Amino acid sequence: MNEQTITTAPTPATFTGNRALDIEEALIFETGRPEVTGVDLEEPAALTPRLGGLERKAPIGLPGLTEPEAVRHYVRLSHKNYGIDSGMFPLGSCTMKHNPRLNEKMARLAGFGDIHPLQPLSMVQGALALIAELARWLRELTGMPAIAMTPKAGAHGELAGMMAIKAALAARGDKRSVVLVPESAHGTNPATAALLGYRVEPVPARGDGTVDPAEVEKHLNSDVAAIMLTNPNTCGLFERDIVAIGDAVHRAGALFYADGANFNATVGKVRPGDLGVDAMHINLHKTFSTPHGGGGPGAGPVALSAALAPFVPVPFVLADAEGVRLVEHAAGVGAYAKPFGRLSAFHGQFGTFVRALSYMLSHGSDGMRQASEDAVLNANYVRAGLRDLLSQPFGDRACMHEVLFDDRWLDGTGITTLDVAKALIDEGYHPMTVYFPLVAHGAMLIEPTESESKASLDLFIATLRDLAFAAKAGEKARFLDAPRLAPRRRLDETRAARTPVLRWRKPPPAQAAE
Ligand SMILES: *Cc1c(COP(=O)(O)O)cnc(C)c1O
Repeated sequence: MNEQTITTAPTPATFTGNRALDIEEALIFETGRPEVTGVDLEEPAALTPRLGGLERKAPIGLPGLTEPEAVRHYVRLSHKNYGIDSGMFPLGSCTMKHNPRLNEKMARLAGFGDIHPLQPLSMVQGALALIAELARWLRELTGMPAIAMTPKAGAHGELAGMMAIKAALAARGDKRSVVLVPESAHGTNPATAALLGYRVEPVPARGDGTVDPAEVEKHLNSDVAAIMLTNPNTCGLFERDIVAIGDAVHRAGALFYADGANFNATVGKVRPGDLGVDAMHINLHKTFSTPHGGGGPGAGPVALSAALAPFVPVPFVLADAEGVRLVEHAAGVGAYAKPFGRLSAFHGQFGTFVRALSYMLSHGSDGMRQASEDAVLNANYVRAGLRDLLSQPFGDRACMHEVLFDDRWLDGTGITTLDVAKALIDEGYHPMTVYFPLVAHGAMLIEPTESESKASLDLFIATLRDLAFAAKAGEKARFLDAPRLAPRRRLDETRAARTPVLRWRKPPPAQAAE
């Protein structure tokens, strides 16, 4: 390795603080001069205030930038965003995959992009038909009879599914207070159950990283409302005993919630309905593309079994002999007559629906199956390229769409999982998911997705191999000082989480004068 690349010397200072074309960007409120903003209007003649004492007493405090300054500010900020369009984004559990541009083009068609949720239904029949058609595809892919389309993210879909479960139990007069959640679960699973007032009981994984039906049996009793299980699980392993687990759960009178965030690994191969699932959310923004991250946009439709279908929240789209309509009040709508309520205003995340249907129609059912197969192949290609240097917590066995490593390979190096992630930033990669799932010590969870080429996987594997050799050779500086080349180095993440500064305040004058 080139000696120069491991120097720990700070980057040379520049007069501007900029690093070549990487421009240091202040907060918008820290720059500018108020007098350059706005329009010069003449002072009005005597005005009678009509706001009843609600008039503004101080200047509004808008940042004072000229138009080119404002444009540059936001364009520069956009350059600081690392996204799937800038490079590989191997973030496990998140399915950060290429979003085909065709989907964007479809979402921007005026008939889809320019409509308003309050338009009369007669004017948006096409949009409603699109929602109904997407729901039809989702029913087909999941093998489940009903889909609630309105949830706006995976976590929101979990909430919807668990509210349907709670409503179904209440409808049969069954008061149950416990939800079982395997230890490898995503944090949103126990959070959802807790939000609905359930006590969360963790189910430990067995030695191979999967859930043992015998262990589930031990936790089942008449107080258990549901189990929340992810398949493939967050260790990237298929829960082989999922049918036995579902059967045991049903025998105990409980319901089976499946977290469908990892559906990308099984679309077109397995129908969750055939596995005995009662409710499963689908992250449209993961499995069926849509640029996501940074808080949205997303969509988390939830598929429901026949037992839960009557509790689908309003509003929902119904396509029948009368055409396509939006049902706001379910009384009299046959099979769907007992909605648990309304989860969100309007119809859900429409732009994401358009992208998902465009993805489905352009892939076709055979293309979607191939995408899952390629996602699994790519993860195993990464696994095969790294298995001799990195350690796998549950042995050297085939994985599904993501491959999990732990930190035993770093034993004795003085380097941690976090350091490896930071070193990857210097190499131009968004790090993999780290320290999740909790069942693996110092977890590194890599999900390449089907959309990476062999060349891009080869470079990623070579980079990680280079880092692994460096770690084992004792080149600690490359890790402990990383990221050395990013605009910001290591942040105090604990302090940022514990005492977040959410609002910019003008510094007091003394400080400002410094
Ligand atoms: C992403 C994810 C979720 C939550 O989905 P959001 O759309 O981010 O709310 C839940 N479970 C798993 C396993 C996930 O990967």
